[in-house]
Amino acid sequence: MQDDAHAAIRQNACRTAIENRLYLAEKETTFGSPAGYFGDLTLSWKAVAAKLDGAMGEAFEQFVHKGAPLSKPLANAVAEAIKSWAVANGATHFSHWFHPLTGTPADKHDAFLTIKETLEGHVAHVDHLAGSLLIQGEPDASSFPSGGLRATHSARGYTVWDPTSPLFIRVDGSSRTLCIPCAYVAWAGHALDTKTPLLRALDALSHEVTALVHTVSGSNAVTHVHATLGTEQEYFVIDKAFLAARPDIVMAGRTLVGLPPARGQQLEDHYFGPIASRVQAFISEVERDLYHLGVPVKTRHCEVAPAQFELAPVFEEANVACDHNVLTMDVLQRVADRHGLACLLHEKPFAGVNGSGKHNNWSLCTSEGVNLLDPGETPHENLTFLTTLAVVLHAVHEHADMLRVTIASAGNDHRLGANEAPPAILSVYLGEALEAIVHAIESGKAPNAASREAIALTKRLRAKPDLTDRNRTTPFAFTGNKFEFRAVGSSENPAWPMAVLNAAVASSCREIRGRIEARMKASGDRVAAVRDVVRETFASTKAIRFEGNNYSPEWAEEARRRGLPVLSNTPAALAVLQDSSRTNFLTEMSVFTHDEIHSRYEVYAERYIKVVDIEASSLADIALTHVLPVLERQVTHTLNAQRALKDVGAAHEHQSRRARTLCELTEELQITAEKLSKARRLLHDQSSVAKGMDVAANQAIPAMFALRAVVDAAEGLVSDASWPLPKYREMLFAGV
Ligand code: ADP
Ligand code: MG
Repeated sequence: MQDDAHAAIRQNACRTAIENRLYLAEKETTFGSPAGYFGDLTLSWKAVAAKLDGAMGEAFEQFVHKGAPLSKPLANAVAEAIKSWAVANGATHFSHWFHPLTGTPADKHDAFLTIKETLEGHVAHVDHLAGSLLIQGEPDASSFPSGGLRATHSARGYTVWDPTSPLFIRVDGSSRTLCIPCAYVAWAGHALDTKTPLLRALDALSHEVTALVHTVSGSNAVTHVHATLGTEQEYFVIDKAFLAARPDIVMAGRTLVGLPPARGQQLEDHYFGPIASRVQAFISEVERDLYHLGVPVKTRHCEVAPAQFELAPVFEEANVACDHNVLTMDVLQRVADRHGLACLLHEKPFAGVNGSGKHNNWSLCTSEGVNLLDPGETPHENLTFLTTLAVVLHAVHEHADMLRVTIASAGNDHRLGANEAPPAILSVYLGEALEAIVHAIESGKAPNAASREAIALTKRLRAKPDLTDRNRTTPFAFTGNKFEFRAVGSSENPAWPMAVLNAAVASSCREIRGRIEARMKASGDRVAAVRDVVRETFASTKAIRFEGNNYSPEWAEEARRRGLPVLSNTPAALAVLQDSSRTNFLTEMSVFTHDEIHSRYEVYAERYIKVVDIEASSLADIALTHVLPVLERQVTHTLNAQRALKDVGAAHEHQSRRARTLCELTEELQITAEKLSKARRLLHDQSSVAKGMDVAANQAIPAMFALRAVVDAAEGLVSDASWPLPKYREMLFAGV
């Protein structure tokens, strides 16, 4: 019978998972010191320049830094140098690697092959890369989401080489492909990707922060400023064998049904616990592959939920860090596959235990290597630090709603606002010491120097405490010398939140510099002007600072009183993109055009609807074709047992009640499945994405909750031997 077959698949998956763990734990591999191979499969623009002779190297540097045109001979020389390196490292193909709005990177591989016509006929050059092919490609733009910017009959789009992000060679089995990081735009120049706006935002940021530093310091020594980014990446791993019996994970990347196990994370024993040998073998191979690609992964540990882990790199320049995070997600999934594991990057793969985020640690670094958010020993006297802090507070205060937009997705909706992740309301946590300084300045008092005594543990052991405590509930925390945007989803390309954050900070810089310069003009006193504007800004942005528990229900009320945007789900967040008064700063900073903002609204709204629709369809399929037949069979079993009890005159009330409950569940399952089908039909009938999102959020998702509740209740009643879907306890504990 069909249902027996499903149960057998589940049982096989469990056996495989346990056997894999035993087998792989015994395997020993050593990769040697990464010093011997770190970055050997990547090529930075500096390394390219070093391969060119003098004048060419300089002209190439002008191209990279100043956007000077790349002449045809120079482009060919650059392409030849890159190709020679790639071929020497075994590459046979090259590919423009870019980030369309699909959420996953895209590339199309071409061989290093050209056919030339000579007097002898056609001659194949098998290791050729023309300069023109290096710097620009032309994928069909209508096959990627464009939010109406492109159509099948007007499909041209271009990938354009971004030389500031290192080239790399992707190794997959016996194939090696040179990947060329690219921006991706439509024929008329509209951005169709996540990189283009990020690069524009970083340009605006550099310009505005440099000008502000000049004004505040009275010196022009700083020539440019870059954003730094370190992305802590959370993920789950489970045995791949479970996928065969979990169509929800295959279709939606997460479980749509499943009864939380008796033991989840309540013993708090997984966070920083010992990493299982099988997972350690997987992580070591991930690290090895990432080191080859020059991705500086540094930290690994078990996260809070069972089967959940985290990996964090050393921070880098923001554009490179974003590309490296995308590569990290790619490598995690490929290596997991090789190890018989599945790496789940979804924000909420399992109900009842923590979901996954991606903390974006962000700061600003000058051309002189100074971290502008480093408070130093005497933060209250550090004018550059205080001004930068005021700028960031102003940016988050003014643009909290747009920052919220960038972390909105169907997946992240399960996290934001739940008791495990930052809330859907943006606020900033400074920590006690800094808060005291800001508070003193804001109220016109002289701030005290912040300091803390060493903590004596025993007579001999001392701990040196930080000035600030940690607040795990906050979405945007100051953590010593950087801010941590903690609310970003685990599967998201960080380039979108980083584009908006950097644009907001650039815009805030411009405004604050204008105020300082106006004061300076009036009083001639630079220091007094800076102090005044810092004080005013601390006062005017007070509403965004929150030190308390962001998980508490009172906070939502308090936030509303403070006038902060409370955008509880993706449709509410995306609506901000429809209001040009809220997005104008993005056009003013030349990060997006109005058309591009509108197209993002369409793309993200459509994506939300499609994700909900796929999940709804997959859930209905599981309920009706996996669970219902098993439930029906269980009803028969139970009724037979009840009859047998009755026949011999034994008590059978419990059996009757159980049979009734099962019959009710069987009925309930079909009623709720029908409601879900109705919601889906309605979803398909909507004429606009706004209406579609409304139906998705207010009809389809509640219908999914209702259906899931019935399936989960059935899981708790049906015989374990015939249940068709791997259970949470198996996926989370067997195999890893
Ligand atoms: P935690 O969040 O636990 O304090 P760490 O101090 O290890 O963790 O830092 C987390 C991430 O922050 C790492 O990726 C680290 O490289 C990054 N980071 C540290 N300093 C900066 C900085 N100045 N700019 C951006 N990221 C930074
Ligand atoms: Mg962490």
